[in-house]
Amino acid sequence: MIHPPILLRTISDLRANTASWHSEGLTVGMIPTMGALHDGHLALVTEARRRVDRIVATIFVNPAQFAPTEDFGAYPRTEASDVEMLAALGVEAVFAPAAREMYPEGHATTISVAGPALGLETDFRPHFFTGVATVVGKLLIGGFPDIAMFGEKDYQQLLVVRQMVADLHLPTEIVGLPTVREADGLALSSRNAYLSAEERRTAARLPAVLQQTATAIRSGTDAAEACATGRAALEAAGFRPDYLELRNSETLAAPIPCSSEPLRLLVAAWLGKTRLIDNIAV
Ligand code: AMP
Repeated sequence: MIHPPILLRTISDLRANTASWHSEGLTVGMIPTMGALHDGHLALVTEARRRVDRIVATIFVNPAQFAPTEDFGAYPRTEASDVEMLAALGVEAVFAPAAREMYPEGHATTISVAGPALGLETDFRPHFFTGVATVVGKLLIGGFPDIAMFGEKDYQQLLVVRQMVADLHLPTEIVGLPTVREADGLALSSRNAYLSAEERRTAARLPAVLQQTATAIRSGTDAAEACATGRAALEAAGFRPDYLELRNSETLAAPIPCSSEPLRLLVAAWLGKTRLIDNIAV
């Protein structure tokens, strides 16, 4: 028999709920999401299930991480079916606040981030990581989970959150999990719902070009040259790339030539009105 999760709408309820679990000696995992759940989100839940006694998933389309020109209004909102999916996996609580709960009238404090937040996404979405860090910080301080799960799909975000948690001495372990993909390689994303049938077919070129570029770099092609070839391949397929770049996978700094540092290849590209991001280890 499936028990529906407790639905929490306020930070004070989130805090009381987690505190009561902790007082019973239970461990707590948090999974922050914007809802419109898919198997990528559910993989985070499944791993949390293995690691902790109680799970709180959060569903909040965070206005602070969207620019006025972006898709805040159009972003899919499917709370009832999200909660059903979470119930089927035995999630104990869902925190789904209204925007006014997270950002009451007069809200004036944000978390500003540098380090791994510099470059890449920030060059194209300057407001983005301040919005993400602020909301994730508020969620972690609201619930003080023992662990919180994030996907490598949003690789720069994962590193920004890790840095923020370390810098603010938050008592939560950040767990990063591999990207879940469709059979043709496309990374699962709530935004894939925006793609037309034709765009959806083209979208599989994005991970394919990432793989080709990574292979070229591994076999000794100069990274700048390989990335230029990759960008040209994306343009030829109908994308408008924002970036395709090789970075140090721990700091996201530009790699030092001929060193043996760990590397990550990251891409963001528009297909019609949809912006897709992806990344792989090199
Ligand atoms: P979102 O709802 O898009 O904000 O994502 C919530 C969490 O799910 C973030 O930590 C994402 O990185 C993660 N996530 C989204 N898509 C995937 C995916 N395809 N595979 C693994 N994790 C994902």
